[in-house]
Amino acid sequence: MKNPKTEICDAILARKRFVLTSHAKPDGDSIGSQLAMAYALEVLGKEVRLVNADPAPAHYMEFPGVSRIEITREVIERPGPHDAEALIVMESSDLQRTGVAGLAGRFTINIDHHQGNTVFGALNWIDESAAACGEMVFDLIEALGVPLTIEIATHVYLAILTDTGSFHYSNITPKTFDICRRLTEAGVNPAAMARRVFDQNSFGKLKLIGALLAEMDLLDGGRLAAMYLNDDILNATGTTYNDTEGLINLPLTAREIRAVVFFKLGADGDIHISMRSKYDVDVRAVAARHGGGGHKNAAGFKVKGPLGAVRDGILKEVTDAIALGVQLRA
Ligand code: 5GP
Ligand code: MN
Repeated sequence: MKNPKTEICDAILARKRFVLTSHAKPDGDSIGSQLAMAYALEVLGKEVRLVNADPAPAHYMEFPGVSRIEITREVIERPGPHDAEALIVMESSDLQRTGVAGLAGRFTINIDHHQGNTVFGALNWIDESAAACGEMVFDLIEALGVPLTIEIATHVYLAILTDTGSFHYSNITPKTFDICRRLTEAGVNPAAMARRVFDQNSFGKLKLIGALLAEMDLLDGGRLAAMYLNDDILNATGTTYNDTEGLINLPLTAREIRAVVFFKLGADGDIHISMRSKYDVDVRAVAARHGGGGHKNAAGFKVKGPLGAVRDGILKEVTDAIALGVQLRA
């Protein structure tokens, strides 16, 4: 039997038109993986359409090709009878996670590195050991024989730099650095990339950071931090939801902290809950109980509000996860 990567290569080479998508509220890995793949397909002479439910964070707009991504909640066109088309979905546990309707019923290639992927494609390549989906895309591009153009290398680097939390997280392997070495040889400038990705705060975002930290709760003897985002804070600081990317990591920089829960209140009454943790504290298990997903140290889910009704229960679950994680480590 062929391995999934080889099967995906064959399927790509046999097709002409591609729709590429990733999860709603895209992050650096989804944008980087999607665009690296798009540039590689174009080197092979393929037609590529990029579709996402939400725009990329504003400071990614200057990365090559980001402005080409169509922002839509529904794809209307159906594939033709000869089905020369394939849908490539990256970073998504299921099709719903894309936030884009109308994608079902196509020949689907599913590429992901999260636990809990529902294996919804005709071809599925799930590698939980990959530090970023971008690592898998790098492998695929290499297997397709496409040379590393600067656009491809830049996007793979963006994916890895962001999904490893700038080389902070436990999913980094020698392979991660091997890939980054190749990307650097292809012309990527790591210092410039770090500045472009991380040193992009507006003054509003600095104020947002101040406001969120001022309102943060410290719980469980300083091992757990809870942060709360609502429209009032965004309005007061002149920021938008996109400005919150990465801010969940701030409390983690405190020595004692083992986990952070970030409650983001949407206008629709939904609460998106992001969680981060250190060491053996498994926040994915908490997310999975609520229909969400992610990784052991970075996970999320959505619940219906109001905040007061769900807050204590969720914080209790994370407190228990901290206790369990500390036990495992002892
Ligand atoms: P973030 O907190 O940055 O939104 O997400 C952290 C991790 O959890 C990412 O790997 C992301 O894919 C995953 N994640 C966040 N929210 C959800 C969700 O609602 N469903 C699933 N399946 N995964 C999520
Ligand atoms: Mn990822």
